[in-house]
Amino acid sequence: MGGIVHPELGKDIVSLGLVGGVAITDATIRVTLELRRANDPFAVSLKRAVEAVLADAFPDYVGKIAIYVREAAPKKVERPEMKTATGGVRNIIAVASGKGGVGKSTVAANLAVALARSGRRVGILDADIYGPSMPKMFGLEGFLPPAEPEDGRELIVPAEKYGVKVMSIGFFIKPTDALVWRGAMATNALRQLIHQTGWGELDFLLIDMPPGTGDVHLTLVQELAVTGAVIVSTPQQVALADVVRGIRMFRSDGINVPVLGLVENMAWFTPAELPENKYYIFGKEGCKRLAGETDIPLLGQIPLVQSVCEGSDSGVPIAEGDSVTGRTFSELAARLTEAVEKRNADLDPTRRVQAK
Ligand code: ADP
Repeated sequence: MGGIVHPELGKDIVSLGLVGGVAITDATIRVTLELRRANDPFAVSLKRAVEAVLADAFPDYVGKIAIYVREAAPKKVERPEMKTATGGVRNIIAVASGKGGVGKSTVAANLAVALARSGRRVGILDADIYGPSMPKMFGLEGFLPPAEPEDGRELIVPAEKYGVKVMSIGFFIKPTDALVWRGAMATNALRQLIHQTGWGELDFLLIDMPPGTGDVHLTLVQELAVTGAVIVSTPQQVALADVVRGIRMFRSDGINVPVLGLVENMAWFTPAELPENKYYIFGKEGCKRLAGETDIPLLGQIPLVQSVCEGSDSGVPIAEGDSVTGRTFSELAARLTEAVEKRNADLDPTRRVQAK
């Protein structure tokens, strides 16, 4: 059965732990498949594949071959111990994307500002090692984080702007150097930032992840107790294909991070002079559809508007103002807070996100 691959999860059913039990007697071979979803669309084809494998393996068996399919009991999420430097952080949220250029960093920065405006204590860690953009988006270029002794060790002090504590690999390297960094070097630097940044007490630490799936993602989930992930995408079909890969990565066995929601960025274009008009230049509601198909909530739809881009370039995120688009990010922040609260209540009913 080790050769039967679950088409969606991309691994064989044995290493995925989907074979719940095998019982062999003279009269019956009974196999129970424990699928993660009751309505797994591949249930029937997997059942048939197992039957075929057994019939092949025991050609002379005259008893009955019975394959049962049931939904597996939900897995307990294993969380690593909180490491010291993030010991005061209540929720760590990975902001990810399937591919580059979809606005992941823009959404992360504005979400951080909107959460801070709603009274939460917020930090952002720019882990987008190959293209750190937080220094520019927060108008913090040239900032050199000081170090401060605490409990016999050195902590790096994050910048603070718009109520958000900001730490970026970009504070330490020239933008042109980032491109030539190699995997191990980049992940080591990131590891140091993770463990040595003096975040203090935070309700949310957002992590601006590198695009796609790779080493840095693994490092982050291994080193930090990530509460959940938010995936940003445009509605475009090609971007969505990569989102599916991202969802699969977060849900995979070694990672096990719940995907709290999707954010559809550049959902439509609205020109400043025609604020009522919506042009669906990347297609309409692709993320919304994907959210329905994957059973992951759509946390928000952000339009493509010039002021978002200008806000990032000028170092004043649009969520800092009271424009219509700024309010879209407040709504997004509220939905994310709700999703996190729900998640934490599911894990432990006494744990709640708290405002200042
Ligand atoms: P990523 O982090 O996914 O690579 P960025 O956040 O750097 O993407 O965004 C890519 C470019 O698109 C930037 O120039 C950014 O200012 C712009 N951008 C992102 N989202 C929007 C939006 N909703 N409206 C207008 N411009 C946007």
